[in-house]
Order: sequence, then C-alpha cells, then structure tokens
Amino acid sequence: MKAIKLKSEVGFSKTDGTFLPVMERFYTIQGEGQFSGNAAYFIRLAGCDVGCSWCDVKESWTISDEQWFSVESIIDELTSCKADIVVITGGEPAMYDLTALTKAIHKIGKRTHIETSGAYEIMGDWDWITLSPKKFKNPLLSSLKIANELKVVVLNNHDFFWAKDNAQYVSDTCKLLLQPEWEKRALIMPKIVDFVKDNPTWQASLQTHKYLNVP
Ligand code: SF4
Repeated sequence: MKAIKLKSEVGFSKTDGTFLPVMERFYTIQGEGQFSGNAAYFIRLAGCDVGCSWCDVKESWTISDEQWFSVESIIDELTSCKADIVVITGGEPAMYDLTALTKAIHKIGKRTHIETSGAYEIMGDWDWITLSPKKFKNPLLSSLKIANELKVVVLNNHDFFWAKDNAQYVSDTCKLLLQPEWEKRALIMPKIVDFVKDNPTWQASLQTHKYLNVP
C-alpha cells in the first residue's frame, strides 16, 4: 500500500476529496442493516466532531498526517478484494467530499455504501446510504431525505420518540431500524421488540458482527 502524506497545513478540513484520511481498512462481513451478512470491504475514515458519549470508536475522532492517502492508492488495494460492497464509515465520513472516491469505486465495478450521522451534506455517488442520527449533532434535512435506511441507536425510552421524529423526514422507501446500544442491549432489546410489535414499519437491528466476533 502506498502511503502518500498530505502537507500538514491541509489538516482537519474538507479537501477536494482526492486525498482522504483513512484510519483503517478491512475485509469482513457487514453486520448491520439491510446488507447484514454480506461480504464487504470497509474503509474507516478518520475525523469526527459529533461527539457521541457512547462512541465505540473514539480513536477515529482525530486525524494524523500519516493517515492521508490518495484515492488512487485506496483503490489500488481495493481492486484485488472479492467483495462487491465497499462501505465507507468513520468517524464521520460525510465531513469529506467523497465524489472522487465513489466514482473510482464504481469504475472498478463495486457498490458504494456509506454509514453517516447525516450531520454534514452527503457528497458522492452512493448506492446505499445508512443514516444513523445522533442527538449530539442533528442530521440535516437534506441528508434524511436521501437515506436508504434510518438506523437509530437506542439507549433509553426517549430515543423511541427521537426515532419517530427523524422518521418524519425520510422517504417512503427508507428502511426504519432500531438498534440497541451494545452495552445496554439486554435492557433495551425487549423494549425494541415491544416497539416494533406496536409499530411494524420499524425493524429491530442487531450488531451481528459483534456476536460473530468479526470486525
Ligand atoms: S458519529 Fe460515530 S464516530 Fe462520531 S462520535 Fe458518534 S458514534 Fe462516534
């Protein structure tokens, strides 16, 4: 893998998207949502200012100079991967213009999926948008409207109201998912089951990769 450093003055800001800060890349099984169970190559971009207190990837919040790679070098590694699906996650990937990356992924015949809080305008050419809204930085209306699935992480009873609030703004075809916060799953999952039985347009979502013990 070719590591190409970007000058440090570019720092924590949007670039033209030809260089992106990559925290990690890995080939695994998608554990959540509509594509759960499918092989997928994950690109976790560094950088997030949403600040969820329960975040399980806090190490993704900051960016170092060494993490910047050209789209070309990201694609070089991806070309040999058998997965049809490429998931761009974070951090908060929508902090960056992902037009160049998504076009390059399509050029090698793979699907582009993003997992975002929706707090920033979603730029790029996407086959699937998973929007997981966060109370710490509200999603944009424009992002909610183009989501393919709305995945709300539930920690407490109020989150069910928060989920319904957000669902008002998504399209008719958007999947509605409720997922227990991992540490509270034993307490929350029975409440999600009851909610889904009362509100069958919603589905329960599990972090199956954590049960399978894969990344
Ligand atoms: S948006 Fe995601 S990466 Fe950012 S703080 Fe929240 S859970 Fe963590």
